[in-house]
Amino acid sequence: MSADVFFMDLTTTSRENFPEKLTRLLETAGIKQILTKNDLTAIKIHFGEQGNTNFIRPVYIRQLIQTIRRTEATPFLTDANTLYVGSRSDAISHIKTAVENGFSYSSMDGAPIIIADGLFGKNETKIQVDLKHFSNVYIGSEIVNANALVSVAHFKGHELAGFGGTLKNLGMGCASRRGKLAQHSGVAPRIRRKTCLGCAQCADHCPGKAILLKENKAYMDKDLCIGCAECIVRCPTGSININWNSTVPVFLEKMIEHTQGVLKNKTNKALFINFITDITPKCDCLPYSESPIVNDIGVAVSNDPVALDQASADLVNSKKALPDSILKTNLNPGEDKFKGLYPSVDWGHQLHYAEKIGLGTREYTLKKIESLTYKKSSGHCI
Ligand code: SF4
Ligand code: SF4
Repeated sequence: MSADVFFMDLTTTSRENFPEKLTRLLETAGIKQILTKNDLTAIKIHFGEQGNTNFIRPVYIRQLIQTIRRTEATPFLTDANTLYVGSRSDAISHIKTAVENGFSYSSMDGAPIIIADGLFGKNETKIQVDLKHFSNVYIGSEIVNANALVSVAHFKGHELAGFGGTLKNLGMGCASRRGKLAQHSGVAPRIRRKTCLGCAQCADHCPGKAILLKENKAYMDKDLCIGCAECIVRCPTGSININWNSTVPVFLEKMIEHTQGVLKNKTNKALFINFITDITPKCDCLPYSESPIVNDIGVAVSNDPVALDQASADLVNSKKALPDSILKTNLNPGEDKFKGLYPSVDWGHQLHYAEKIGLGTREYTLKKIESLTYKKSSGHCI
């Protein structure tokens, strides 16, 4: 059975501007049926790394917040801390980055930012999934605790996943640091001794007592490592890194198993939104943004995350590539832009595995909402 994916393009008229059309899209997609009075509603978003400029515009999120308030639910903005050391790897720097990127309490109409996995990424909830790679996954607790979830993903290319959309926003984005590390690697992180200063920050904070200092260099006992990733964020020189030992299909399956964990207690209490705008080749975790691969397309909404990502990928691939991006092959409408960017990544595998474990369907019906018809204009440029 196919799922409905509701879609709006970027056309607006004097009768209905973009934010108003966004509210109509969300209401057509059933937001009022999903959210009810007093639901503490997590809006899972990526605030953008410092220096990145193509994350979702705050003005759109403000409109979403106001639309959620019409249902009498109570929204808050959330994300989990990053595994890598950057401008969002602890709750303080994460909130500071979000505010600097435009997501302040006042601009978000009084919706607060609550980092889902706490100050250092340790506020996590173990969710039983019993799937191929994991029996349990670790998710930022405040997302698990929320009564309802609205996932807002910036749909774009991604180096490891082919594209990043709703499934990745949930699976990777809601995982605690331990959950993120479990997806990226099956084993302990790696220490680059060449750049190690011997400061002992990693050893002092390692809960497994897995790191020892010998002759001013850090050494790890991998048998004692529990994969919490604490040492990665503590190291001031970036000498401890993720071990990229997983193959791409395994990485994608692990990510999707975390998506399953995130949605486990959100049956009929989640809505998924993809902003198919500023479609850059890489993730918003980068501290810069590259030229988009195709023109802005619009916004898509569904209560099926698999159908939503499939429809969004198809919309991107139906477009002609822009000349200034790093995409140099598969430029024509109908050609696979993500394969053109990352030839060794089978992006369809995340959709295939998500469908297989029951997260949704790849079959969809695209229901486009048309712009309201033009009314005699009262506005003039003078
Ligand atoms: S990942 Fe955690 S347990 Fe493993 S070495 Fe680093 S701090 Fe210690
Ligand atoms: S925190 Fe980094 S620099 Fe300090 S001892 Fe550990 S690996 Fe070396």
